[in-house]
Order: sequence, then structure tokens, then C-alpha cells
Amino acid sequence: MTARPEAILSIPPLQGCLYCHHVGTVRYAEGRKVLGLGSGLPTATCSHCGTVAQLEIEDGDDPYWRIRYKKLNSAPEYYYVMVYLGEQRWIDGEEAMEISRRGFVQRHRIDQVQHGDLEWLEPAPLNPPPPLMSPYETVYLAVPDVSLWQPSSQNGGSGGSALDVGTFYVTDRRMHLVGQQRDWSNRLAEIRSIEHDENAWRIFIGGNRQYFTGSNTLESLDAQLFTAIVKALWKREE
Ligand SMILES: [Zn+2]
Repeated sequence: MTARPEAILSIPPLQGCLYCHHVGTVRYAEGRKVLGLGSGLPTATCSHCGTVAQLEIEDGDDPYWRIRYKKLNSAPEYYYVMVYLGEQRWIDGEEAMEISRRGFVQRHRIDQVQHGDLEWLEPAPLNPPPPLMSPYETVYLAVPDVSLWQPSSQNGGSGGSALDVGTFYVTDRRMHLVGQQRDWSNRLAEIRSIEHDENAWRIFIGGNRQYFTGSNTLESLDAQLFTAIVKALWKREE
């Protein structure tokens, strides 16, 4: 095996794990093709989080690289990187670095929220507040493109029919949807359950199991952090 140029071993995912952010835990292996099988691409394996990624590297002083995760770790603390680094998706180096940075911050935010610290959201009243919001309510979250659904059966679950869509506000005591049809307002105490998965969050309210839902987008709060914040506010109201 010929020695790799220093430049290749110094590319970011080989310096520190983009997934769990540990340093010195990533092992680099040259790709091999045996009897025409295998991709022949080099891999980066992290001994801390157990993720395995393929790399494509173009040699040079400042090598271009991209990465594709073959094996993820789905533990809750890696939710953000699991969703956005994803599986079997080639990601350019710069984008992968940005997702990794955001994933690091997100993990810190989750930790803060779980310790009851929501001040970093800079909660404040809206001026003027929407019609159903009291001027004394403090807004913690404002999220566009949230919809309200009526489940098709009393058993609940997702699906059913959309009642409205609009901007969703979570305050110290209520949830408000300023929808295209009308304004909706529910007390936090009306929440029955809160759930999230890799794609979306859902907040179930009241006896008829209506639910608010919003999707993961790279630009807004991810579903894990969003639900953690609502749960923290809900707990304060109980
Ligand atoms: Zn790792």
C-alpha cells in the first residue's frame, strides 16, 4: 500500500467524528475490491459511536471530499446527525461539516432544555399579539407551516384530514395556530401526548385526539428539539 498524502489524513471526518464529535476515534481504511465486489472506496469507522462512512476524496493540497454514511447510530443523542447526515446519501464536505456543527449545538440545546433552561429562546410577548393571544403571554416558539389534523378514527394515530395550516406559537401557557381558516388556541394543559420521529413532530390535544404537526426542515427547529421545548413548558403548566 502506498502512503496516503498527509492532506488526505487531515480531512475533517478523519480528524474528529462528524457524528459524535469525538476526536481520535476514527479509523481510516483503504477501500478494497475483491473479485469485483465492494465499492473500492475508503471508509471511516468511529470506535466511539460505531458509525461507518464511505469517503470519496480527490487528491490535492486542499482535497475535495464527500461522505456517505453506511451505518448510523440511532441513539437519541444523535438524532440530529442521524436525520440530516442520513444513510446512503452522498454529502459534500462543506455541507457535512455544517450539519455536524449544527448537530453539536443541537445536542447542547437538548441538554439545556432537559435542565429547564429555555432562556436561550429569548421568550417575549408578541406586540401586537394575534387575536386569541393575551398580551401577557410569553412566546417561546413561532414555527411556520404547522397543520392541525383530525384523525380519521378515534384510535388516533397520524393521517385523517387537515383542518388548517399556518404559523404555530407556543407560549408559557397556550398553543396558538394562526391558520388560513381561523385562529385556534389550546391550553398546554390540554395536551394528551407529544411524539416525534425522523420526519415530524405531533402534539395530540383534547379528547378527540386532534393533533398539531410540523415537519423537519434544515432551516427550522428539528422535531426532537421542538418537542423537548414543548414538553418542558407543558411540565411547568402541570
Ligand atoms: Zn463517532
